[in-house]
Amino acid sequence: MDKILILGGDGLLGSCFWLGKKVGRKDADLTNYQETYELIKRENPLWVVNCAGKVGGVKANIENKFDFFEKNILINLNVVKACMELKVPNLISLLSTCIFPDTLNKNGDLIHQFVATNGDLVESHLHQGEPHESNYAYAYSKRMTDILSRIARDKGFNYQCLIPTNLYGYNDNFDLDSSHVIPALIRKVADGIIEAKKQGKNVVDIEVWGTGNPIRQFLFANDVVSMVFEIIDNDIRFGNMIISDTKSYSIKQVIDVIIKIYQELTNNEFTILRNFNSSKPDGQYKKTTDTSKFSILLDTPITELNEGLKLVITEYWKSRN
Ligand code: GDP
Repeated sequence: MDKILILGGDGLLGSCFWLGKKVGRKDADLTNYQETYELIKRENPLWVVNCAGKVGGVKANIENKFDFFEKNILINLNVVKACMELKVPNLISLLSTCIFPDTLNKNGDLIHQFVATNGDLVESHLHQGEPHESNYAYAYSKRMTDILSRIARDKGFNYQCLIPTNLYGYNDNFDLDSSHVIPALIRKVADGIIEAKKQGKNVVDIEVWGTGNPIRQFLFANDVVSMVFEIIDNDIRFGNMIISDTKSYSIKQVIDVIIKIYQELTNNEFTILRNFNSSKPDGQYKKTTDTSKFSILLDTPITELNEGLKLVITEYWKSRN
């Protein structure tokens, strides 16, 4: 296999790579151009996969806009620039469907006229409208990675962007203030069961942010790694491409799946109740995708949410016991 360098190798996605050289925060500060340049020069890869970035859930995005903008714009500018200067032929940058224009409001009405009637996100819409107000700083800075990659392609480099929906996996961020919904709920249920056990109770109350109505699609991080290898092995060219499951879930459905898995793991010892706290932000109402391009170009199968969550929750629950 070609020499592959994985940036962000200690993060949720980067840490899942089973081939390639993984580098993380301790190896180089990618917000610093010189360090980025030296790292890539030293490794001399044929492919760079950039999974590095400042990411976080809806609360972190609202509260740290400058930091999200600054870190992501610097990392991507430095990585693309260093790769071009060092004549690295291939780069895959990971973006996120969070960066698309917001499509539907909470009544289900279209916000932008160019969007398909069901509000599904399409690659060609990326720069056509305002992102959701909760994460516009992150969104605009990451959109520039698409521009940087386009500039590089105009110069003959194979620099492309993969755009996954909400990721989850083993090495997630389980910090309740900055995490995304899946790791937050996985942790909250574990915390609740552990506390109930201590107090000799069998009822567990879980706080779920928002109304529970927002709709999301989820992707198991290990599947994305398989997709990246499929792209590299077959030298698949796409410019930018959304990668996503076709199934979508409301946050209510997500918490129900998580509760069911914990109930099975604990032999139904606990009644786990969910309470929606609508004083917390819902974020974007609907973030579903058009997967036409993906389904034509890639064959990697997608792990069912229920199956992926069973794997992650079993591992997480073990680590808490
Ligand atoms: P988003 O997909 O970029 O909006 O980010 P999140 O993963 O943080 O949030 C997705 C949805 O899950 C939002 O509607 C949140 O209100 C909802 N949610 C419910 N409970 C939680 C929680 O404990 N943490 C987070 N981060 N989101 C939650």
